[in-house]
Amino acid sequence: MAARQPVSFLPAPAPHWVGDGFRVFPLFADLAFREEVSPFLMLDYAAPHVFPPRETPPGVGAHPHRGFETVTVVYDGEIEHRDSAGNAGTIGPGDVQWMTAGAGLLHEEFHSREQSKRGGLVSMAQLWVNLPAKNKSTPPAYQTILKEQIPLVDLVGGSLRVIAGAYAGAKGPARLFSDLHVWDVELKEGSAMQLDVTSGDTAMIALFSGAIDVAEHKIAQPGLLMFATEGESLVFRVDSKAKMLVLSGKPIGEPIAAQGPFVMNTQSEIHQAIADFRAGKMGRLEDFESQGA
Ligand code: MN
Repeated sequence: MAARQPVSFLPAPAPHWVGDGFRVFPLFADLAFREEVSPFLMLDYAAPHVFPPRETPPGVGAHPHRGFETVTVVYDGEIEHRDSAGNAGTIGPGDVQWMTAGAGLLHEEFHSREQSKRGGLVSMAQLWVNLPAKNKSTPPAYQTILKEQIPLVDLVGGSLRVIAGAYAGAKGPARLFSDLHVWDVELKEGSAMQLDVTSGDTAMIALFSGAIDVAEHKIAQPGLLMFATEGESLVFRVDSKAKMLVLSGKPIGEPIAAQGPFVMNTQSEIHQAIADFRAGKMGRLEDFESQGA
């Protein structure tokens, strides 16, 4: 089994706020929406942040999406979601929401009312996963994946949760449109890791905390580690207790046209998405708000 060479490490860029609820580090940095990271598009990591108690939940109000999927992994706190396709749900620590925007919808993302009232720690990650051209118009869908539905694989130096795809025979619960794997991994100091991946797949480690050593390169800050596409395993040592998402998948290999909340294949499809959103074809804000947001 050939170990993959690391090709680049992108330290976490400066954080920005998404609405008033999520202070995120855009970990894909300049590689976001590029073929190099396909089938993934971008990853926002909201590091642990303490919020004061308040009556009105912080977060981000109704906004559209089309042409891809959003995957929200909660580490601390409680997040509430509602969308124009009629789906709503609350997820807490260890839970995941896998939302397929597909043909288009409006949604909002807030701290839950309870979370907001008591205040405290909130930490999460949101990954955007691209859809192949043939699935970009799929009807919107929504999957709440609770912690207990996610297979937990014990590793010699820690544990790995299979959110999507598979690892060592354990299969993740997420329904997928392309071949990919999302592993939520926590590792102890001193462990020597070898994670097997498919040669030719894109593979990367989004390091949230801790320190690792890959092929004699020490990485001791949050960021994105990209691997070469050839080779069957990611080999590294854990220098201090680490938390990460390990992402791999078959590149979709189609043109990417991305603008704000829309990710299509061509610029004319982007213009169509904007027109459809303005015409209310992704659901109406009024109907949406009358649901009781
Ligand atoms: Mn959104």
